[in-house]
Amino acid sequence: MLNRELEINVQKASSDQLKTKPDPNNLGFGRFFTDHMFTMSWNRQQGWHNVAIRPYESFVLDPAAMVFHYGQAIFEGMKAYRAKDGQIFLFRPNDNFTRMNNSAERLCMPRFDAEMVLGALKELITLDKDWVPSDAGSSLYIRPTMIAIDPFIGLRPAEEILFYIITSPVQAYLSGVSAIWVEDEYVRAVRGGVGAIKTGGSYAASLYPSKLAADKGYQQVLWLDGVERKYIEEVGSMNIFFVYENCIVTPHLNGSILAGITRDSIIKVAKSWEMEVIEGKINIEDVVADIKAGAVVEIFGAGTAAVVSPIGRLGYKGEDYVIGDGKSMGALTKKFYDTITGIQYGKVQDDFGWIEKVM
Ligand SMILES: *Cc1c(COP(=O)(O)O)cnc(C)c1O
Repeated sequence: MLNRELEINVQKASSDQLKTKPDPNNLGFGRFFTDHMFTMSWNRQQGWHNVAIRPYESFVLDPAAMVFHYGQAIFEGMKAYRAKDGQIFLFRPNDNFTRMNNSAERLCMPRFDAEMVLGALKELITLDKDWVPSDAGSSLYIRPTMIAIDPFIGLRPAEEILFYIITSPVQAYLSGVSAIWVEDEYVRAVRGGVGAIKTGGSYAASLYPSKLAADKGYQQVLWLDGVERKYIEEVGSMNIFFVYENCIVTPHLNGSILAGITRDSIIKVAKSWEMEVIEGKINIEDVVADIKAGAVVEIFGAGTAAVVSPIGRLGYKGEDYVIGDGKSMGALTKKFYDTITGIQYGKVQDDFGWIEKVM
């Protein structure tokens, strides 16, 4: 239900509700939350209602709330960036809300008015502006979430929904150069399933294979397709790119891959540099052969948290394959990082119309 006239009820935290701000040098990722949050409710009778920005606090939910039992939950991940002159920007926020509406559709949850929610998000960030960090590479991580809250343990689409947005100041996400494990037993997603949307269950299911990879000394899992376990899909919860001489290659969106906004940004930036971009079906055996032949010069993951995350080593069927010197970020990976973060922080001219000013 799309009622654009919904009014946002803004309740500011009282001075005794304001939290002490964390040390900017010790933010880590996703550990601290700001003073306010956005919430709105939906039910079959009223549609969306009770739209509010209010002090951050715990929810009281019935133990029977459907989300706890059947995982009817979706989320998004995006960031607000502070420029040198103090302005605050969002990066392609409409794409996040469009994707979230697609996720909602797949899980039988209600669509929402993206324009209204974006307006509310800007208001929320403005209210918590002192929480947007200014150190290089740091940002305010934004987590829109939608959950099913009916107190009912029969299986059917929920009739009561809670949508909320919380925000968290985060430091630059420096993963270093990763070693990745090519997982050929467990899979992340299958075509026709929910791999193309952001829903909690997919991430819960990825924990065990990720732990097995970590036990073997690898930082990330490279996921293969769910049917033949032959074609490359994603790395951890990022999209993946292979750099060849003047050409980048990434798996095409086949229905089980999450359509990353960073992925799309990299493709558009590469095309603007007149690089060839190939989106296709990528066989792991071909990649291994190309690494051995020295044709794959860089590999990196792409996602909002790290922008790009360089990959230096790939473990496949008991053998390790090293890319480049295995230790440093490749030149092109770095160029993508500098260009995209440059646009996000207002340092590089935004020729794509990706930046949205908050204040
Ligand atoms: C969020 C996510 C990505 C990256 O998407 P961005 O929009 O670039 O942040 C890639 N893969 C998975 C599985 C994800 O959940």
